[in-house]
Amino acid sequence: MGSLRDDIARERISILLDLASEMWGKDQSLSRKYVKRAFDIKKKFRVRISREEKFSFCRKCLSPLIPGKTVSIAFDRRNKRVVYSCKICNNQSAFKYKD
Ligand SMILES: [Zn+2]
Repeated sequence: MGSLRDDIARERISILLDLASEMWGKDQSLSRKYVKRAFDIKKKFRVRISREEKFSFCRKCLSPLIPGKTVSIAFDRRNKRVVYSCKICNNQSAFKYKD
């Protein structure tokens, strides 16, 4: 139960993550605050977020991961993984893909 509450939480998370990537070019500390707030909501409501959202911010330094700006994305074909490297703190995260 509690699906409406979860929907609201998920919607807030997605709005905050959008705001964070929009704000990155203007105010990086504000941008990180948006990410942190989204992360706090995720933890508090224990909602699942999509893979895209999961990889749209760095869990270590809470920067939004913007391709070409704050993240580099590499395909590790041998291990069938996509590796995201945060250019801010060098933290890496990866997920497996199927071909
Ligand atoms: Zn980072």
